[in-house]
Amino acid sequence: MASDKFQPPKGMKDIYPEEMAARQAIFSTIREIMKRYSFKEVEPTKIESFETLAAKSGEEIEKEIYAFEDKAGRKLGLRFDLTVGMARMVAGSAYPTPVRWFCIADMFRYEAPQKGRYRAFWQWDAEIFGSASVYADAECIALGCDVLKAFDVDFEVRVSSRKLVQAVMEAVGIERDKILDAFRCIDKLQKMKREELLDEFERRGIMREKAEDLLDALDLKGEFEDVVEAVKSRVQSKDVNSACDELLQLRDALEALRVLENCVVDLSIVRGLDYYTGIVFEAYATNRKALGSAIFGGGRYDELVGIYGKDMPAVGLAGGVERLMEVLKAEGKLPEVSTSPDYFIAFVTPQLMDVCASIASKLRGKGYAVEMELMDRSLSKQLKHANRIGARYVVIVGPDEVKEGKVKVRDMESGEEKLVKVDEL
Ligand code: AMP
Repeated sequence: MASDKFQPPKGMKDIYPEEMAARQAIFSTIREIMKRYSFKEVEPTKIESFETLAAKSGEEIEKEIYAFEDKAGRKLGLRFDLTVGMARMVAGSAYPTPVRWFCIADMFRYEAPQKGRYRAFWQWDAEIFGSASVYADAECIALGCDVLKAFDVDFEVRVSSRKLVQAVMEAVGIERDKILDAFRCIDKLQKMKREELLDEFERRGIMREKAEDLLDALDLKGEFEDVVEAVKSRVQSKDVNSACDELLQLRDALEALRVLENCVVDLSIVRGLDYYTGIVFEAYATNRKALGSAIFGGGRYDELVGIYGKDMPAVGLAGGVERLMEVLKAEGKLPEVSTSPDYFIAFVTPQLMDVCASIASKLRGKGYAVEMELMDRSLSKQLKHANRIGARYVVIVGPDEVKEGKVKVRDMESGEEKLVKVDEL
């Protein structure tokens, strides 16, 4: 047993072999889907300059950055997402647009750890840089849907538009300099009761009546056409109309990409990070109330890349690997991947270890997973061990058989044993 004294730091997690095998299977499925959408794999650096991270992250995430100084006094931080790093990379390079990149990697946020929320976690992330088309937004949503469908998850994507929400904010009279504050309040909508939220608006200098009007207008969830109708009947402005048109174009694109049935509009979704500028979305498991948090989320962020030196529209999404695994585990759909060897090579006497090693090498050369006895145990203990680790076959190397160039091969499922020529293994 591990000593209590040496535990991973709070919010950090070790990954043991069974979980690692399931993760690798998940990653390879995700990579396969990324390939179908022609996303190329990249990885931005894990350690960024603090300035890069803070440039457009918003007050919430800034508090969550693991920041430190290196030995030369440079202010650095661990990446908290992959979007910022990829935006910096794309701004500093000259690939033909649209650039379609993806990454599967770990990141760090100094958050209060709880179920489904860690300080170190993995994301699969895909971004399209350089296209302002609503089809790029739709492709990101469709990609996310295809990932979840590949794992047979029942889910719903809640789609919203920050442009529309902002137009509604302006229409109810929220001042321009309070818009970001209002977004931060709306982002807490699902976590807070209405009264608490109204207090939060007031604390940020937004009048209660305006906040109430806003909350009433945003309490809209449903089919694209219905929500658009309902918003238009409550608030009229040019910006509201154009944001509604964009939502309807997205609807058609989602239909063409065959994922409309997985999507609903939910105007309470605005996403926590300040860098989003247009369509935003989050996916939730539908038949699992326990995990109330998003499995993936994303949206359009047309002003972020410009901060790193090149004006470029962009849209992307990111999904939490641990969250996905928790949903799959709860639904009994986690990929079961064997970590057991194909062969265990046992000896009758330790003098035969060279023969065992040479057989192990030969079988590995043929692509099998092979372990040999390294603990100097009795044959019966070796067989017990082979059984425990789930070896499919045990090769028993004994002095009499070896003299004839043979070994016994035991099928661990049937218990059957055969004498086999070493040359024929
Ligand atoms: P975000 O980068 O905040 O948009 O998050 C994208 C996805 O990453 C979320 O939908 C979650 O699935 C996952 N995620 C975000 N924060 C955490 C966390 N602290 N622990 C585990 N997964 C997370």
